[in-house]
Amino acid sequence: MTTAVLAQGVIKHFPRVHALQGVDLTIAHGEFFGLLGPNGAGKSTLINIMAGLTRADSGRMAIMGHDVVTGYRMARRNLGVVPQELVFDPFFTVRETLRIQSGYFGLGRENDAWIDELLAELKLADRADSNMRSLSGGMKRRVLIAQALVHRPPVLVLDEPTAGVDVELRKLLWGFIQRLHRQGHTIILTTHYLEEAESLCDRIAILNHGRIVALDTKQSLLNGDLGRGLRLRVVANADILAIPAILAAKVVKHAGNTLELALDKGADSIVAVLNELQRSGIEVVDLHTEQADLEDIFINLTSREAD
Ligand code: ADP
Ligand code: MG
Repeated sequence: MTTAVLAQGVIKHFPRVHALQGVDLTIAHGEFFGLLGPNGAGKSTLINIMAGLTRADSGRMAIMGHDVVTGYRMARRNLGVVPQELVFDPFFTVRETLRIQSGYFGLGRENDAWIDELLAELKLADRADSNMRSLSGGMKRRVLIAQALVHRPPVLVLDEPTAGVDVELRKLLWGFIQRLHRQGHTIILTTHYLEEAESLCDRIAILNHGRIVALDTKQSLLNGDLGRGLRLRVVANADILAIPAILAAKVVKHAGNTLELALDKGADSIVAVLNELQRSGIEVVDLHTEQADLEDIFINLTSREAD
C-alpha cells in the first residue's frame, strides 16, 4: 500500500491557540477522505502543513513518502491544494495564471495541452483569456482547482471548495472530483456540507479543537457507537420562538413550528426532551424519529467536547 499522507504527532501552536494538538493520520493512496470539523478546528492549518506553507512545531508530515520539510520539493510535486481563500493576481488572465503555476513546477509550453484539457473539463475554455478580476467567485473557484492540478499531482486536497458555491457549480465540481478519484487520485476534502461528505467519502476524520475525535470508514461511523444516535423532529402547534437553552446544542434545524434535534441514545431520552419543550410552553403536536446520519454524529461529537 502506498501512503498518500502520513501525519505523526503533528502539533502546531499559534500565540493564542493550540491549533493542532497531536494529529496522527494515515491516508492510503487512492482514498476519498473527508476531513470534517467545525470552524477553527484546525483543518486549514493541517492542510497548510501538508503544503509546506506552515511549519509544524513538532511531529512529522509526509506526502507520498516525501517529508514536507526535508523533501519539500518532492512532497509539493505530489500534492495539489485548492485553498479555502480565493487569492489571485487580478491582472493575469486565466490561462496566464495557469501557465505561471506550471512554471513553478518547471513546466513550460509542453504543458499547454493539459491546461486546455483542464479548462475544458472545468468549463472555463471560453474565459481562458479573461482577466482574473473579471471572473465571478464561482469561476475563480474553478480556476483554483485547475491551478491545483496543473502539475498532475497524485494527491489532491480541497479545502472547503464548495463554501458559498451555487448548486449547479457544486454538481459540476463533485462530478469532476469523482472522475479524478476514479482515475486513481487520492482526494482529501474538507467541507461543512456533511451530506456531501457522507455521499462522497470512503473514510472520514472529525477534527475538533486540534484533535481527531473520530476516524473511521463512513459505514462504521454510521453503524458504530456514535451512530447509535437518533434524529428527532417535532412539530409544535405554533411557531417555536425560543428554544430551551439546554437543548440548543442539539438543534440541527429550526424553521417555523418545526424543530430537528440530534440526540445521543445513550445520554438523551425523548421523554426528557419533550418535557423540556413543554416546560418552555412549546406544545408538540407531532413527532418523528430517524436513524442518525453523519450530521448527528458530528453534532454529538463536537457538542459533547464543548460541554
Ligand atoms: P479550520 O480550517 O478548521 O476552520 P484553522 O486551521 O483555520 O481552522 O484554524 C485553527 C485555529 O488556529 C483557529 O483558532 C484559528 O483562529 C487559529 N489560526 C489559524 N491560523 C492562524 C495564524 N496564522 N495565526 C494565529 N492563529 C491562527
Ligand atoms: Mg479552514
